[in-house]
Amino acid sequence: MPPLPTTKDILRLYRIKAKKSLSQNFIMDPRILQKFVKTAGNIEGKIAIEVGPGPGGITRAILDTKIQECHVIEKDPRFLPSLNLIKNAVGPEKLHISIGDCLHYNITGRLESKVNKTAWDSHLKSNLVLFGNLPFNVATPFLIKLMKSMADQTHLFSFGRMTSILTFQHEVALRMVAPPNNPERCRLSVMVQNWANVEYAYNLPGGSFVPPPEVEVGVVSLTPLRQPYIQLPYETVDYVVNSLFLPGKNKYLRTNLRRLFVPLGVSPEASKKLAKELLEKCDIDPTFCAVRLSMDDIKSLCFGFQHLKETHPLLLKTQTSLEETMQNSEADYYNVEKTNSEADLKYVVQFD
Ligand code: SAM
Repeated sequence: MPPLPTTKDILRLYRIKAKKSLSQNFIMDPRILQKFVKTAGNIEGKIAIEVGPGPGGITRAILDTKIQECHVIEKDPRFLPSLNLIKNAVGPEKLHISIGDCLHYNITGRLESKVNKTAWDSHLKSNLVLFGNLPFNVATPFLIKLMKSMADQTHLFSFGRMTSILTFQHEVALRMVAPPNNPERCRLSVMVQNWANVEYAYNLPGGSFVPPPEVEVGVVSLTPLRQPYIQLPYETVDYVVNSLFLPGKNKYLRTNLRRLFVPLGVSPEASKKLAKELLEKCDIDPTFCAVRLSMDDIKSLCFGFQHLKETHPLLLKTQTSLEETMQNSEADYYNVEKTNSEADLKYVVQFD
């Protein structure tokens, strides 16, 4: 890339101050930026997508590789001049800038004609790679959306298995990779590990950022599995995993699993019996707690629940409410607004 003023100088030049409301902490050190991009392995010839580029530190490191092109989505329009400066340096075909909210922005249509699809069961990954150093309050809802489209093989995952390199608060990164019996094991661990190979690549100390965040930062790499452990729809797995963990991850399973049935209008007494029946069928100790369950155990419970749902007279009566409850549970759990395409169109401004 042709020489440009440093990111620090650019921030000074455009008089941009980090906005606390957007939790803006920038990485300035070129070595850290290069290391971050290298976490994705060899990205030569790929198309990169970056969410939350800010002044463009990671963007530059991406463009310093032999990448085909890079698409960035940034919420704060104050960064447009600095991103345009980079665009002018690399050429209009190399960097594509969109101002918008990455939680609502769907870039898939823009990539249709540029990316060849790679079969999901191929050992090869897709031609896309995703990077993001987002504020922590955006990183988790973004991850959940990503997991949902990974499970459904839609949006960016409609082109194949794409690797994502993302930052999270250290504790969240630990939860994502926590194995069974680990105190950090939670709903997020199961949901992420069911569909992805997740690695806590390394930790970035607060001093790597300007201004430094109050918490440590974990860099996480996520690559979709060719086959998930539990091959059931995202909503079903989510519903069962919520019931397992939500009432308390260290509580008896026989207590937590009642939650699978009560919201479907089954009486508390009958729910207790159904939970017992499910645990017996899956050969799982009812006095175990969710943290101790292996992926295989959770798989048995999901398929066992699915079977009960399709065959048990008490549940057959409540089919409609079951589908509704599953959808509502997703909304409650992640607290992510549903995409409103009309509102999105108003919100997103493209500068290409
Ligand atoms: N990537 C830059 C870096 O590493 O130096 C900036 C990181 S800063 C922690 C997060 C960036 O994400 C900010 O530029 C912020 O404006 C942007 N951002 C926050 N919420 C966003 C959202 N919903 N969609 C897109 N960008 C967002």
